[in-house]
Amino acid sequence: MLGLMQEWPLLCHKILDYAAAQHGDREIVSRSVEGPIVRTTYSDIHARAKKASQALEADGFGLGDRIATLGWNSARHMEAWYGAMGVGGVYHTLNPRLFPEQIAWIMNHAEDKALFVDLSFLPIVEAIADKVPSLRKIIVLTDADHMPENSKVEMVDYESWIGRQDGDYAWKQFDENTACGMCYTSGTTGDPKGVLYSHRSNVLHALISVQPDALNLGSNEVIMPVVPMFHANAWGIAHSAPMVGAKIVNPGPLMDGASIYELLDTEKVTMTAAVPTVWLMLLSYLEETGKKLPHLNRVVIGGSACPRAMTEAFQNDYDVQVIHAWGMTEMSPLGSLGVMKPVYGDLEGDALLDMQEKQGYAPFGVEMLVTDDENSELPWDGKTFGKLKVRGPGVARAYFGGAGEEQFDEEGWFDTGDVAHINANGYMQITDRSKDVIKSGGEWISTIDLENLAVGHPDIQEAAVIGIVHPKWDERPLLICITKEGKSPAAEDILEFMQGKVAKWWMPNAVAFVEEIPHTATGKIQKTELRKQFADYRFDDG
Ligand code: ADP
Repeated sequence: MLGLMQEWPLLCHKILDYAAAQHGDREIVSRSVEGPIVRTTYSDIHARAKKASQALEADGFGLGDRIATLGWNSARHMEAWYGAMGVGGVYHTLNPRLFPEQIAWIMNHAEDKALFVDLSFLPIVEAIADKVPSLRKIIVLTDADHMPENSKVEMVDYESWIGRQDGDYAWKQFDENTACGMCYTSGTTGDPKGVLYSHRSNVLHALISVQPDALNLGSNEVIMPVVPMFHANAWGIAHSAPMVGAKIVNPGPLMDGASIYELLDTEKVTMTAAVPTVWLMLLSYLEETGKKLPHLNRVVIGGSACPRAMTEAFQNDYDVQVIHAWGMTEMSPLGSLGVMKPVYGDLEGDALLDMQEKQGYAPFGVEMLVTDDENSELPWDGKTFGKLKVRGPGVARAYFGGAGEEQFDEEGWFDTGDVAHINANGYMQITDRSKDVIKSGGEWISTIDLENLAVGHPDIQEAAVIGIVHPKWDERPLLICITKEGKSPAAEDILEFMQGKVAKWWMPNAVAFVEEIPHTATGKIQKTELRKQFADYRFDDG
């Protein structure tokens, strides 16, 4: 017997309908690529997204068409997403930090038909336009006055393009399982793989993420997603913020410490989110200038492990709560958040920081387990680590085009490729990517633990640990560091600092100082590249 409640398909554009109806005056503030700060509202975005849908339809785009975007976080970028979804199309975020050839490869794989692009990325478009045969239309997210004079590629400006429409448009209606969005993982191994979100998965993910023990988002919040919309959907914020009517502050192209600080301060941002590298820049800026963060209440940090020293700085020096989060493009992306359950409610000082080094626990809608290589579930004891697997309505069940089949099993579990342990209260801690873990004498050493420890040293800016082949132990850890400006600690200093804080056999065999540590397009340390750089490195006893 079926229930007698209404069928109300979970479609993403209903989120924007809601925002316009209930929070129409709430502002969206964006630093534009043209320079000025632009202020708009949910009502405006709603009206203009409808025009974008109309214009797409007039140009012959519709159900299932992949509509790519190459843009910074901005109101226009949001309109492009909702406009694409409103005709039943699939917004497809492209990461401009990839090489043009990689972008072209991804667009061809996705068979993108149209592209919304920010002025900053026109050189990329010129490099790839004739390499993507499926691409029929390029819309530049600007107005006629800012259009380039003589580009070799045919393009229209967004404002004129939507300006021709009257906005009298009814979003298309379809099954909630219809695809609505797409994002390729950066493919640190092998080719990039496409994740294809559905309307239902995005709406459910947004509902999950606004919960009090997740992002705790409400209409009183002023949220600044520094994490780009092209990095795992800006962690869902373009859906979760309108769902509750939170004000959004988009940083646009400028993510240096001073620019981020300026918006945090002038817009009185209460909550923000990004990868640790962004916060390193902000914290150095604050240290240099002595400025404080009186309005900011909390910061969500994920994408890579949040070092303990960073949590300590935000909480102790600036009175800003850190929420350490873990997730993946394949998970829409939120998987776990480091908020404290009542059992940890009284923790403070080091005990609290210990817990915050963990990536937190899974909200409703994310199931999680850790298995050994034989697929047997491991205990939740906070130390036995193995393969982290997840399932839920916001988790991918396959990649677009069928790549990576081995990561999905018959019971619906998705193998994240991360190695983790979970404690008795459900708090998960990532110890490594499975491909980065160091195997020493048959046992595993967590590179993330060592890195977090090393950056706790006052002279270290950033640290990465990789395995170096060793005749006796197979592999041993090498600690690679960038020092803070003007500091030159000795290797022994750093090792001494780490001594006693990890098992003796985990201690790095040596420390190498470098000027730069390579990062991926989503801000993670690029260990494949480091392993190449240090391929010939050997320890004194190796
Ligand atoms: P990409 O693979 O394209 O860089 P993702 O953001 O989807 O993009 O990467 C997900 C991976 O990032 C996770 O599987 C995990 O290895 C890592 N990651 C994300 N958040 C954290 C975190 N808080 N701590 C440690 N690793 C993290």
